[in-house]
Formats: sequence, C-alpha cells, structure tokens
Amino acid sequence: MKQIDIAAEMLKLDSDILELLRHPKRTLHVSVPVRMDSGLRKTFTGYRVQYNDARGPYKGGIRYHPGVTLDEVNALAAWMTWKTAIINVPYGGAKGGVICNPKKMSVKEKERMTRRYVTMLGDFIGPYTDVPAPDVYTDSQTMAWIMDTYSQMKGHKVPEVVTGKPINIGGSEGRETATAKGVLITARDAANELNIGLKGATVSIHGYGNAGSNSAAFFLGMGCKIIAISDSQGGIYSNKGIDTRAALNHKSKTGSVKGLEGTHDISTTDVLEIECDILVPASLENVIDDRNARNVKSKIICEAANGPTTPEADILLETNGIFVVPDILANAGGVLVSYLEWVQNLNREHWTAMKVENRLEQDMHHAFNEVLTMSKRHGVSMRTAALMLGIGRVASAIKTLGIWP
Ligand code: GLU
Repeated sequence: MKQIDIAAEMLKLDSDILELLRHPKRTLHVSVPVRMDSGLRKTFTGYRVQYNDARGPYKGGIRYHPGVTLDEVNALAAWMTWKTAIINVPYGGAKGGVICNPKKMSVKEKERMTRRYVTMLGDFIGPYTDVPAPDVYTDSQTMAWIMDTYSQMKGHKVPEVVTGKPINIGGSEGRETATAKGVLITARDAANELNIGLKGATVSIHGYGNAGSNSAAFFLGMGCKIIAISDSQGGIYSNKGIDTRAALNHKSKTGSVKGLEGTHDISTTDVLEIECDILVPASLENVIDDRNARNVKSKIICEAANGPTTPEADILLETNGIFVVPDILANAGGVLVSYLEWVQNLNREHWTAMKVENRLEQDMHHAFNEVLTMSKRHGVSMRTAALMLGIGRVASAIKTLGIWP
C-alpha cells in the first residue's frame, strides 16, 4: 500500500482510480477437504486473489506454504498486476495460496489437494479469465494436475488454462529457467550501468529454490563467483567460489545446502550482509528489513523473490547508494515466458528454445531500459520508477475502459 501511494503521488493519479487500485477486484476463500494417506480427512484453507484485470486475464502463481496468509496473497497479487504491465503483456494480476506444509505431505496428498483446490476455484479460473502458474513449493507437476483437473471438468484438453507445465503436455521451452534468466539479464544491465564487469563479479544468493538455484548456475556461466548461498536451513560460504551443481545435489540428498564440502556454514543473515558485487534475494518476503539493511554491502541487489525488501529497508538501501533492481522487474522473466507459453497453447504451436530465449532477452532488456529511463527522468529509485511504469499503465487502461454499467 505504501508503494502504491508513492507511485500514485508521483503520477498525480486521480483519487478515485487510486482508491480502486488499493483493493483487489475479487477474493476467493476456499476450504479444501483432502483425504490424507492415513485415511483421515484434513481441511486446508486456500485463497485466490484476483487483483485487477483491466489489461487482460488475471495471471499469477499459486504457492503452497505454511506461512500463507490472505494479506500476503493480496500483496503478491497486486505485484503481479504491476509486473505484467511493466513487461507489457496483456494480463492483469492474481495470486493463489494454500496454507499447508508440502515438505510433510506425500505426492499423492499434494495431488489430491491440488485437484480439489482447482475444482473449488471452478470457472473463476480459465484461459480468458485467470491463468495460474507455479510459485513457492509448486512446480510443473502441480501445473499438470491443474491442467488435467480443469480439462476433465470441460471434457477436452485445455492446456492454456495454466502455464509452467511440463513440456510433453504443452509447456514452453525455457519456462523452468525463465525467472532466473530474467534475473541474469537485468543484473547484467544493472552491472553495465555501474560499469561493473560480470566476469569475476562476486554473487551471494539468499534462497535456493527454482529462482535461486537457476540464477546461481547462470551467474556462474557468465564467469561470476558464487561466494555464498542459503536456504531455509542455513547458509554456506567459500571465498574460492561454490560449485552450484554440487550445492543442488547436496540439497536434494540432505534437504539443505548446509554442510557442502569445501564450504563453511554461515547464517542466512550473513548471506545477506556479506561483501559482494551482486546480492540476489530469492526466497520469501521481507528478508531485507530495517534491522539488516544498513549492513548490506553489495553494489547491486537483484530481487528474484517477490517483496524481499520492506519499504523502511528500501530507504536505507537508497541512502547507501545500492542499485536495486526491484522484484516486479527483476523476476518478470517467469511470467513473460508464461505469456509465451499461453500464446503457443492458444495457437497449438511449439516454439524452439532459441525463439523463446531471444524474445525473453529482448523484452527484459527493453523493460529494464524503460524503468531506467523513468528513474532518471524523475530522479527516483528503480523501484519507484518500476511502480510508476506498471501502475501508470494499469490506471490508464482503467480510465479508458470506463465503468460498466
Ligand atoms: N509465480 C511467478 C511470479 O511471481 C510466475 C507467475 C506466472 O508465470 O504467472 O511472477
């Protein structure tokens, strides 16, 4: 809400439009009964917040996490709305979440929960209504179940109802690594702006899920040195550089990157505060706050996660001259390739990896430049510039559409 107010003031938005932008258009709250492997029934709480659809169908991921709250899903849905506008794809914004602990559930339990959640969302989702995708602790398999459940309800295959699917049932080349590729492109553009070469640049990664682990591999591929990594269990450090694939193997075997050979354990806060060129927060919200922001020593922060920095921390980072590539720009590569997947599905086409990658590179680079230009023209941070660009486009669509009836 603070972010919307800052952007609205800069844009001199009409107060009636501002009022509308401060609220989601629709909130779904469902109770999802699931038969657990024990034979007992458990009821999970699920949400889908459809924030705004002025620019096109609602779009955004679904997360499974014990910490999901309606407030969180609401904020994430608002960010999706500005994000799709920044990369200028014809979508609105939404987000879904189910309060559960997927690490303690079997595959079958997760499948039953997913299918029942989708059934309960019913026709509130659909290819021209609301198109879900993966987020924290959901993956391409989860998306396959969503597609199959929706298709069973319709009586025919509807791949375009969801993105982030496995490739053999209509997923796009490059979707799995798209968020990380976008992070790399925007971090590279930021480094160019600051005249820092990526070769030999030191990188610290907070969070080692899809966005974090793939970003680490891409940075390594560009000649960067990954000096620190963390996940929910703890962090590791090596001044010689961490082998990102070994870290991933170690995590899949032991459940954490902690204890990887040739590294020593540090705390997750150390990973944020370590001296490096590029810091990539790739976990959850509010990890950089007013307690640790002063200690952040990177030159660039490239936000792979959604909402990793609190507004209070933002001010401190700006004062310390840290160049922040904000989440709604930095991690937009995921939803950008989601859009390309949807377009392929609607046309019953399958594009080459090269075609997808070229489009991702071109559009992310363009979005970065648009935000940078806005930031220089108005003398504001990259975050405020990104919000102005995204919120400005949504406000303009709302104005042109008018109100029905
Ligand atoms: N969950 C991702 C995000 O936060 C992807 C959303 C999508 O592809 O619709 O941007």
